[in-house]
Amino acid sequence: MPQPHVAIIGGGISGLSAAWYLQNQVSTVPLTYTLLEQSGRWGGKIRTEHVGAFDGEFVVEGGPDSFLTQKPWALQLARALGLQEQLLATNDQARRVFVLNHGKPTPLPEGVLLIVPTEFVPFARSPLMSPLGKLRMGLDLIIPPKLDGADETLADFVRRRLGAEALDKIAEPMMSGIYNAEAERQSLLATFPRFRELEEKYGSLIKGMLASRRARPGPNGHRASPVSGPSSAFVSLHDGMEALVSALVKSLTGHLRLGIGVQGIARSDGTQYELALTNGEHLRADVVIVTTPAYVAADLLRGLAPDTAAGLDKIRYVSTGTISLAFRKSEVVHPLDGFGLVIPRSENRPINALTWTSTKFNHRAPSDCVLLRVFFGGSRNPAIMNVDDERLLRVVRAELKTLIGIDAEPFFYRIFRWMRANPQYDVGHLDRLGQLEAQLPPGIFLTGSAYRGVGIPDCVHQSQQIASRTAEILSQRIRETG
Ligand SMILES: Cc1cc2nc3c(=O)[nH]c(=O)nc-3n(C[C@H](O)[C@H](O)[C@H](O)COP(=O)(O)OP(=O)(O)OC[C@H]3O[C@@H](n4cnc5c(N)ncnc54)[C@H](O)[C@@H]3O)c2cc1C
Repeated sequence: MPQPHVAIIGGGISGLSAAWYLQNQVSTVPLTYTLLEQSGRWGGKIRTEHVGAFDGEFVVEGGPDSFLTQKPWALQLARALGLQEQLLATNDQARRVFVLNHGKPTPLPEGVLLIVPTEFVPFARSPLMSPLGKLRMGLDLIIPPKLDGADETLADFVRRRLGAEALDKIAEPMMSGIYNAEAERQSLLATFPRFRELEEKYGSLIKGMLASRRARPGPNGHRASPVSGPSSAFVSLHDGMEALVSALVKSLTGHLRLGIGVQGIARSDGTQYELALTNGEHLRADVVIVTTPAYVAADLLRGLAPDTAAGLDKIRYVSTGTISLAFRKSEVVHPLDGFGLVIPRSENRPINALTWTSTKFNHRAPSDCVLLRVFFGGSRNPAIMNVDDERLLRVVRAELKTLIGIDAEPFFYRIFRWMRANPQYDVGHLDRLGQLEAQLPPGIFLTGSAYRGVGIPDCVHQSQQIASRTAEILSQRIRETG
């Protein structure tokens, strides 16, 4: 067999890291690869803009602003790329999240881990929940666990264990917010399997959280990072998240093709595939790794594997956006003493959440300025995605005034709209995924945020696994063909 060739479709973090692992961790098979990215830039949803102003620089993130360290894969990759010195932990001395409660930002009580209270006094004193709501959360200690292993919605799970008020005030804004999901449709097993594990093992979420905190205490009650280095739960990079993309692109030695997309995949001779490219060329490959959004993967695979394509079509997406706004510190009356504000659906606001970026991280704004980021869209308010920039700015400024008293005009703002960008893991997601993966033609792999985790660490991890499986399949073919 001549040297095998691998085609990787999509140059976001999933495609870039798949290429990196093929190049650097697959030593058993000598292979070549081509990475194809349809747009004019690498990185997909990872996008950083540097804006110079006031003798300094703003680092504006359009997509992700950080990644989780408890899931170690992105951190490990950043280190392997020599980005150790770039790692930027969150300002944990200011770690505090506010929840909008009847129009008023109210701090999430100390000791609430994810959605579970683990410290009695701050929780009992907090005005966030009603006395009855707090008592209902305490019933988690005695309600029998569900042990049938079946999936359920995040909303059903939280209502069952902690009550409806905990769902509204804490779980829905905190947990569904991460996924831009609807708690009433979101799969517990695909998004927060740890909650079910704790329920099964300890019979109660509160007991489970207390036990895991005792086992591995970290700063502020967060579990310590499993890899040495930053102990904060999230890290970014000094120059912004796109530094990860630049370092990856610089280190890749394969055939990188920017501005060239794939239109279709067909079978070629034997076990090979032929890719039709947008520039009219054709590319042959022994293995194809598809990292595009699921609906694009569906189109690419429709002729080759119609059942898989039909399954991929069923993965729903929503559109979201961010708007970053820069202000002079002297014009901002609010102390911005936390990481930001999450907004429950029941508050009926036109925006979903606010990050106080320059409090959350250093090096995001000159010292006499502040940078804020507002999240909008998703299933809560899809119509806002089509509102023009000027009107959107008006809506957002009115919200800033009402919610945190900022009336000043921003001296710049940046809007990023991410259309059909957020895959939804609806109940039963993992079962459906298992079925469609089983139907894939040999040598075709799917990886990316639509499948087994939307966060950057999960995307990196999936790509690492796919690189190993690529090596296995190619080694086997080499053995078979002698
Ligand atoms: C606003 C926002 C905030 C987020 N915040 C965080 C966060 O703080 N932390 C975190 O961990 N995650 C966060 N995420 C999620 C995370 O950014 C994404 O899940 C991740 O970047 C997805 O990477 P990917 O490579 O799988 O997909 P993408 O980044 O979507 O990359 C897919 C690529 O495929 C290309 N492509 C499409 N069609 C074709 C074709 N036919 N041929 C060739 N190429 C094609 C696209 O142009 C794109 O570049 C956020 C996402 C958004 C939208």
